[in-house]
Amino acid sequence: MGHVDPAVMIDLVEQKVRKSERERCQQHLTDCERCTAEHESWWTFLSGLAPSNLTDAPTELLNECIAIYQKPEQQLSGFQKACVLFDSFLQPLAVTGLRGTMTEARQVVVSTDDFDVHLKVSGKEFNQTVMAQLLPKGYIDVADAEIQLRVPGHAALLTRSNEFGQFTLKEVPSGPFFFLIVLPPSGNMVQFSV
Ligand SMILES: [Zn+2]
Repeated sequence: MGHVDPAVMIDLVEQKVRKSERERCQQHLTDCERCTAEHESWWTFLSGLAPSNLTDAPTELLNECIAIYQKPEQQLSGFQKACVLFDSFLQPLAVTGLRGTMTEARQVVVSTDDFDVHLKVSGKEFNQTVMAQLLPKGYIDVADAEIQLRVPGHAALLTRSNEFGQFTLKEVPSGPFFFLIVLPPSGNMVQFSV
């Protein structure tokens, strides 16, 4: 079999994979350094993500942990580190001056090696809309990137960026957002949570 798909990888960690497939994947993991590293990374990430349902604080810490964790395996798996440059939820005073109501859109900027991600989250809880754009740093093609959004406890939402690097996700449940973005030409992967 080929490498384990990231979606399957997450299901593996969440123990949602049927026994026959799980055994196949685990067999592959024993032979494949790349998938083993990726699996461990998901495991660390997702096991650290669960408590943040209850409190918003760990996001930054989590990102730091991921960044530290991923350093040694960057060449191995094509993962890049991402860091949250700005989040209007975390810095409400700086953005709005006077804190308004929750109907305001949340704005987030995430920086990666290849591109910045500008996210705007609006709408009611459990039915939010995420509008976003990948802004390349230098000569990077951000069109047709695979976007996967996971909210723990919900099915993954999938989409692709358009020619301008823009994408929209609708009917997004509330909770920590867990993004995986794969750039098609390089296969470079970026994951982050906001
Ligand atoms: Zn593999």
